[in-house]
Amino acid sequence: MKIIHHGAVNGVTGSCHQLDINEQSSILIDCGLFQGDEATSDSSTNQLQIEFDLSQITALIVTHCHIDHVGRIPYLLAAGFNGPVYATTATAALLPLVIEDALKVGVTKNQRLISLYLKRLQQLIKPIDYDQWFTLEVNNCDSGYQQAKARFNVAGHILGSAYVEIELSQLSQTDKNSNALTSLNGDSSNRQDKHIIVFSGDLGATNTPLLPSPKSPLRADTLVVESTYGDKNHLQREYRAESLRQVIEKSVSDNGVVLIPAFSIGRTQELLYELEQIIFNQQHNPMWQSIEIVVDSPMAANFTKQYIKYKKLWDNEAKSVLMHRRHPLDFSQLYTIDNHQDHLAVINYLSSRQKPAVVIAASGMCTGGRIINYLQRFLPEPTADILFVGYQAQGTTGRDIQTYGPTGGYVYIEGEKIDIKAGIHTISGYSAHADQQNLIDFVKGIEHKPKHIRIVHGDNEAKQALARKLKELIPQCEMIIPTG
Ligand SMILES: [Zn+2]
Ligand SMILES: [Zn+2]
Repeated sequence: MKIIHHGAVNGVTGSCHQLDINEQSSILIDCGLFQGDEATSDSSTNQLQIEFDLSQITALIVTHCHIDHVGRIPYLLAAGFNGPVYATTATAALLPLVIEDALKVGVTKNQRLISLYLKRLQQLIKPIDYDQWFTLEVNNCDSGYQQAKARFNVAGHILGSAYVEIELSQLSQTDKNSNALTSLNGDSSNRQDKHIIVFSGDLGATNTPLLPSPKSPLRADTLVVESTYGDKNHLQREYRAESLRQVIEKSVSDNGVVLIPAFSIGRTQELLYELEQIIFNQQHNPMWQSIEIVVDSPMAANFTKQYIKYKKLWDNEAKSVLMHRRHPLDFSQLYTIDNHQDHLAVINYLSSRQKPAVVIAASGMCTGGRIINYLQRFLPEPTADILFVGYQAQGTTGRDIQTYGPTGGYVYIEGEKIDIKAGIHTISGYSAHADQQNLIDFVKGIEHKPKHIRIVHGDNEAKQALARKLKELIPQCEMIIPTG
């Protein structure tokens, strides 16, 4: 057994891990795009192309449909990959939407080509429910493992997200004779012949709204774990919702518009959930009863529909809100904007309206999308406010606004210099990722502790800090920080 990393080793993006089961068979876990500075660094020329050998790859397992985990799938198909693509049922439903958008933005606007790719992808996708073992195809080989099965578990990061357990085993003598599969629950007599590898994918933070928190697996001999926040802990959720209420109340008091740049998947739905909660709790506050919440993003609207469709995957708190006949993602003060004409009309409407309004639009770091038109129009307005709820990476427009906005600076958007007169606010504590304590708890909860931990998907400091903490927790475990 061997693990090779084709991404997410020098930073957080481009997740793609190859598990060699034996000399003839391997599987891939995720196939994501490199983004931001990681996509433009020197070492990454041609990194869109799949330059590793695909001949022994028998399957692709997708942990969740963020672009840094699935964005290279079209290139994988173009390189000739023809095996099954396993994903949870919800991820399987979201995946074509994400890939269609990725193709339009990064590859081609040709609708015929896009349809061909999507048709091909649909043929390969195999939806699997959480907690169900499924068999992976393994080519015959004299040495190494001969059998493999896998299972998705709730990761609580975005809708459909999973961490995956992969169990490798030898064919026992009885199996060889009868050609039967080993018992799925596995008996302890052949435990030595088994190796369980857990790929964490992206783990969710505990206490985030809507989705349940991940539960640790029973056993992981090797753990490949993300470390996005391996060196930080998040603000408490109660504090975060309270800040959201206060900032919005203050911002709309001068009748200005509030803009929230947010990712279409996950963050937008979390915000809607919390805004509905505030509106519900502020029943005697006329401002909150008249506020208009606008989601101006066709992608986000599509994903919100899927979140509603898969409400059986929500956590108990969110389900109990539903039981009280409330609709956290589809309430009466919520407006979604679809086509481009309506989008432009809304910008004009907001300039002249007399009601408080909040606009949520992508992209989350202001690097593109409809938020750009809003920023061009409202950044020079002293009554407007921009509210950041997500991490703004170095080199993005969002980071520039965050840095230069509070001191009355300016920013360049599409080559145009724009003075920032709007108020700039940042609420930390919104994250779809587990923080350091959550990651430690995840490992602590594994009954049969790992012998090897490979730390990926994080900046160097985050990986080092997490490695130190995990070493304290399991001193005999080998900590590996792979490099690219
Ligand atoms: Zn993710
Ligand atoms: Zn990720």
